Amino acid sequence: MTGSTKYIFVTGGVTSSLGKGIISASLAKLLQARGFTVTIQKLDPYINVDPGTLNPYEHGECFVTEDGAETDLDLGHYERFLDVPTSKANNVTTGRIYQNVISKERRGEYLGKTVQVIPHITDEIKAHIQALGRKGIYDFVITEVGGTVGDIESLPYVEAMRQLKWAKGKDCLTIHLTLLPYLGTTGELKTKPTQHSVKELLSLGVQPDVLVCRTEHPMLKGMKEKIALFCNVDAEAVIESRDAETIYDVPLMMQEERLDEVVLRKLGINTFPDADLDAWKDFLRRYKEPTGEVHIGLVGKYVELKDAYKSIKEALEHAGAANEQKVHIKWVHSEKLTAKNVAKHLGGLAGILVAPGFGHRGIEGKIEAIKYARENHIPFLGICLGMQCAVIEFGRNVLGYADANSTEMNADTTHPVIAMMEEQKAIENKGGTMRLGAYPCKLEDGSMAKKVYGKRDISERHRHRYEFSNAYLKAYEKAGMSATGINPQGKLVEIVEVKDHPWFIGVQFHPEYRSTVAKPHPLFIGFVKAAMKQGVKSEAKAEA
Ligand code: GLN
Repeated sequence: MTGSTKYIFVTGGVTSSLGKGIISASLAKLLQARGFTVTIQKLDPYINVDPGTLNPYEHGECFVTEDGAETDLDLGHYERFLDVPTSKANNVTTGRIYQNVISKERRGEYLGKTVQVIPHITDEIKAHIQALGRKGIYDFVITEVGGTVGDIESLPYVEAMRQLKWAKGKDCLTIHLTLLPYLGTTGELKTKPTQHSVKELLSLGVQPDVLVCRTEHPMLKGMKEKIALFCNVDAEAVIESRDAETIYDVPLMMQEERLDEVVLRKLGINTFPDADLDAWKDFLRRYKEPTGEVHIGLVGKYVELKDAYKSIKEALEHAGAANEQKVHIKWVHSEKLTAKNVAKHLGGLAGILVAPGFGHRGIEGKIEAIKYARENHIPFLGICLGMQCAVIEFGRNVLGYADANSTEMNADTTHPVIAMMEEQKAIENKGGTMRLGAYPCKLEDGSMAKKVYGKRDISERHRHRYEFSNAYLKAYEKAGMSATGINPQGKLVEIVEVKDHPWFIGVQFHPEYRSTVAKPHPLFIGFVKAAMKQGVKSEAKAEA
C-alpha cells in the first residue's frame, strides 16, 4: 500500500526499561488498524547467539516462535498486539551477527579482505534489518534497537541505522524514546536528560525524527516546544507518553498523541484510511469493566521476577477479559511450598497454574501444589515442566511409585515417568537444540481438552527435552490419568488429564505463546472459566 517498504527504528535513551517494545507494538497496532501490513523486529546487543541459554533472572522469559526460534520476550508483545506470528527473522543478537560474519570469513567469502566492524558487521546488521522488508509483504518494518543509545555494545547498530537512513532517505525514520524525570522536591519534569540523549544520538550521526517522552506527570504547556527547539524536531513530533494503567492502553494513548499520523506524514504518506480499533476497544472494555474476579495461584521458581512468566501472565489477562473477569495472580514461590504449608499458601484459590522450568530447584514444591490441586478438586493447569510434575505427582501418590521422577531431576530413579526424548540423547550443545516450535497434536474425543479447544487438530509451540515415558501409559490410564493429546508422528504425549476432577489439564507445550488480544487462548479461557465456577463454590462454602 505504501509502494516501497518503510523502515522505522525505535531507539532508547536516558535509561533502559522505558518500554521500547510496547511503543513499537503500539505504533505497529495503529498502522495495522489503518490497513497497513507491519512487522516488528528486535536487535539485541548481547553476545549470546539467542536468549535460549539465558537464565530468566537475566532477561525474563524466552519467547518461542512458530518456527522454533528462542527469542526476546518483546516478540511476545509484538504477537499479542498484532496477532501476527513472528519468526526467526524477527530477532537477532550481536552474537548471531558475529557468528554469521565469522562463518562467512571461514568460508572465504570476504575474498582476503580484512574483516571489520565497519563495513562487515554493519553490513550484516543492515542485511538482517532489510530481510523482512525484502519479503515484499510489509508496508512497514519497525526495528527496535535494544539497549540504550550511548552503550558501547549498541554502537554498530546505531551506525547501521545511520547508514540505512542515509541510503534510504525518506523511507526511513527514527523514533527516540526518552524519559522526563520528575523531581519531587521542586515538582518539576526535567528535559535535560532528553536533550543530552539526543545529543548522544546526534554525535553518532543520527537525527531522531520523533521523540516519545515517557513521563509520570503531564507535560506542561511549552515543554514540547522547548524540547523541539533543543533537539531539532518538530513540536508535533514530540510525543507525550504517560504511565499507563495497562500496556493495552498505550496504542490508544499514542493515537491521541497522533504518533501514527506524524510517522506517516514524515514518511511521505499523506492520505491514509481511518484506524479501526473497535475490537481492541472492546477487549479493553471487557478487561477494565469485569463483572467478577478470580484468584489464581501461579507456582514457579522465578516469581520474584514477573517477566520470567510474561506470556503466562498476559494469557491469563486475555482470558480474564474474554470471561469479563479480573484475574488476580498470587505469585507462589515453588521453593517455599511444603506438605505442611501448602494449604496456607494455596487454600481459597480458584485455580492453580504450575509454570514451566528447568532443573530441580523448586520441583518438590510444584509437586506439592499439584497434589493439593488434584486432591482438593481445584482447577489445575500445568505447563511443560508443570505437566511433567503432574505426571510425577500422580506416579508417586496414586500409582505408588515412591521415587517417580523425571530423569532431568534424578537420572537413577526406578520410575523414570518423564525421560529424555530419544533424539535429544546424542545432542551436546545447549543452544537451540531442544524440541522447539510448533508441532501438531490430535485431541481425544470426549476429552476435556477437546471440549476446551472445540476441535480435534491443534498445533502448539514447544520448548523441552524430556517427555512422558509411553511405557507407563497403560498404568496411568488405568489409574485415572489419561493422555488426551498426542503428537501424530512421534506418538509423544502432549496433554494429560485427570478424569475424576472438575478441570485438571497438563500440557507439554506452551499455550501462552499463542494467546493474543484478538484471540485469547482457549486453554486459558477454559481454565479461567473453571476457576470462576470454583470461586462460586468456595464462596458458598465460606457462607455456609
Ligand atoms: N525441563 C523440562 C524439559 O526440558 C521442561 C521444559 C519447560 O518447562 N519448558 O523437558
